[in-house]
Amino acid sequence: MKPNISHFLSVVLIFLIAGCSEADLVLLNGNVVTLNPDQPVAQAIAIKDDRILQVGSNAEIKKLVGLTTRLVDLDGQFTMPGIIDAHAHFLGVGQARQRLDFSETQSWAEVVQLVAEAVKTTPKGQWILGRGWHQEKWPALPDVTAEGYPVHNTLSAFSPDHPVMLGHASGHGIMVNAKAMEMAGIRSATADPEGGRMVRLADGQPSGIFLENAGLLISNVYEQWFKNLKTAEREAIWQRTVALASESCLRLGITSFHDAGSTFEDVAMYKKLAAFGQLKTRLYLMLLEPNYKLLKNGQKNRLIDGYHHFLTVRAVKQYMDGALGSRGAWLLEPYSDMPETRGLNVTALDSVRQLAGWAAENEFQVCTHAIGDRANREVLDIYEAVIDQDPKNSARRWRIEHAQHLQPQDIPRFGKLGVIASMQGIHCTSDGPWVAKRIGQERAENGAYVWRSLIDSGAHFANGTDAPVERLNPFENFYALITRQMKDGEAFYSGQCLTRDEALQAMTVWAAYAAFEENLKGKLQPGMLADITVLDRNLLTADAERIPATQVLKTFVGGRLLYEK
Ligand SMILES: [Zn+2]
Repeated sequence: MKPNISHFLSVVLIFLIAGCSEADLVLLNGNVVTLNPDQPVAQAIAIKDDRILQVGSNAEIKKLVGLTTRLVDLDGQFTMPGIIDAHAHFLGVGQARQRLDFSETQSWAEVVQLVAEAVKTTPKGQWILGRGWHQEKWPALPDVTAEGYPVHNTLSAFSPDHPVMLGHASGHGIMVNAKAMEMAGIRSATADPEGGRMVRLADGQPSGIFLENAGLLISNVYEQWFKNLKTAEREAIWQRTVALASESCLRLGITSFHDAGSTFEDVAMYKKLAAFGQLKTRLYLMLLEPNYKLLKNGQKNRLIDGYHHFLTVRAVKQYMDGALGSRGAWLLEPYSDMPETRGLNVTALDSVRQLAGWAAENEFQVCTHAIGDRANREVLDIYEAVIDQDPKNSARRWRIEHAQHLQPQDIPRFGKLGVIASMQGIHCTSDGPWVAKRIGQERAENGAYVWRSLIDSGAHFANGTDAPVERLNPFENFYALITRQMKDGEAFYSGQCLTRDEALQAMTVWAAYAAFEENLKGKLQPGMLADITVLDRNLLTADAERIPATQVLKTFVGGRLLYEK
């Protein structure tokens, strides 16, 4: 870069700031990877208030130590910008820690067994909630199934007096017991709602599986039960949920979190916490409310860099389709393993269009969930129409959440339109074993989780975990991005792997870009927020096989040490 006057002034400014102020905190003896191309590696970092004051050698940074400066020895450990999860569900992470976890179960019988144990310790009438089961991950299915899913009978026999609701690992279906169906008034005559479906037995009776929007028939009854609790009880539950989510993040070195679906009520509660300085994770919220409410109330919820950059509300979330596992992903051609269906469109195209128009006018970023190739194409078409009307809309950084299955001709459209591919490395390796069953080899090879092709065609890419759909662990995710290696040791089309350098950017500076925050986060350089993560191994050089077990040693948020192993 040619030196120019503003560059010169900023150098003078940094010199003045550095010269006249001593650091509050100095981190020495680190193996610092800054992600700042002008100074990629360093030994030490000086911090003043919540910002990075200077990055450099031990000798340079020691000059900023004053009488009150706190010193921390990084002990030669790998030090990087705080990790940003670009797509996950914050309250879901906290709730998951309070719910039965079926993600490691090996059979339906095991799921029923865990519920039976919970029945013994839960007062009658209270809901038993759980999540994370996935029939495709079990070595064998139960004797009785409907469309490959278990049916509710054994579950209901063990839980006659408790409503039970167990979320599928995909987040796009639930299994419930007879008590829950009774409370929701579900009978064989109950019709499937728009954008959803009850799986039925041969005689038309509900099997207990509710896919996509059909799950609302049950979850609404639960929500109502929850709403009827006293306000103080609800607030206490909410605060505990947030505290657990924050704790999970800090323990994994995650300092910023893009929440893929917050209600107005959530926003109000987060504001309260943030105002008291009690938010420990920086949140970037995507509003998720029925469209008519958004149009009316979205604007007054807008909040950029609120509360010392702990809370930002400038995005809206919507759903175009469901997930591939439950065959809810909306495809251009039929499913290979169920030729009578092409999946589901869960929000009418007109509503999506209307919201996009509203967002463009009101300066909101649109984040649309799209998994199937049809869903992705429809979203790109809608985004393109808005951008064509006013080319400056391409600078709005609109996102497609997941962008999992694409037709090859749609891949370059992301880069061309400035649409961010907000994807999850871990979905590839965890879904990989059954993807080809759903969509066949050809579609899987040419369009499934094609990070490499997207980046090479000029798309912005950001990485998240989609926790609690997957585990929140960013290192398992990093490993998935660079190896695409599945549990069985096979790689899912390894030609689409990212380099380690790219994977690191995808969870820091590229994720920051997806939230308009690349000047605040994602790099360790003067002026940036002092969000810093220290690890027990080097992500750029450690044996790939050792990366998933990476441990976080320290997490700093805004210069405060909030987690230490
Ligand atoms: Zn999600």
